[in-house]
Amino acid sequence: MDPTIDEIKRRADIVDVVSQHVALRPAGGERFKACCPFHDEKTPSFYVSRDKGFYKCFGCGESGDVFKFLQKVENISFFEAKKQLAERYGVQLPKFGKELSPEQQQAYDERDRLHKIMAACAHFYREQFAGNKGLAARDYARTRGLSGKTLEKFGIGYAPDAWDALHHHLINKYGFKIEDCVASGVLIE
Ligand code: ZN
Repeated sequence: MDPTIDEIKRRADIVDVVSQHVALRPAGGERFKACCPFHDEKTPSFYVSRDKGFYKCFGCGESGDVFKFLQKVENISFFEAKKQLAERYGVQLPKFGKELSPEQQQAYDERDRLHKIMAACAHFYREQFAGNKGLAARDYARTRGLSGKTLEKFGIGYAPDAWDALHHHLINKYGFKIEDCVASGVLIE
């Protein structure tokens, strides 16, 4: 339906895109492997196929194309991923019917930044829940009878016992601005 999606898929090199986030090693032919960015592991079960334009983790089952990878790894929308890839691979996106005024654009950008911060928070807490530190939380969830499906549906996470963990994650890892994090309400001065 959207010809720019096909054009981006045709031009984009998934190995190149994944390499920006994960250290890939050759795995024969057009295949590359790495430790999965979406779950904790010590031996690589995350594979990227250049000719198929596809990635798959045999550990956690996460898989998809170049759009899905960017969305997952950067916590962004499909629209954002498309925009990034279009810019990177020189694909012209169709213009909207009306241009936004500078004020509208500014409001739109601010909302977008706040959404990204919220998404990064949710991701952080879910990561804590799934990781080594989340063992007690996972046990507790089990005693409360929460199924994996329920945990997934409601995005249940775990806040580690550290007052600055989220700050560190948002500012140092994702590079969000402190003013935006305060504005979104997830951090306080
Ligand atoms: Zn995985």
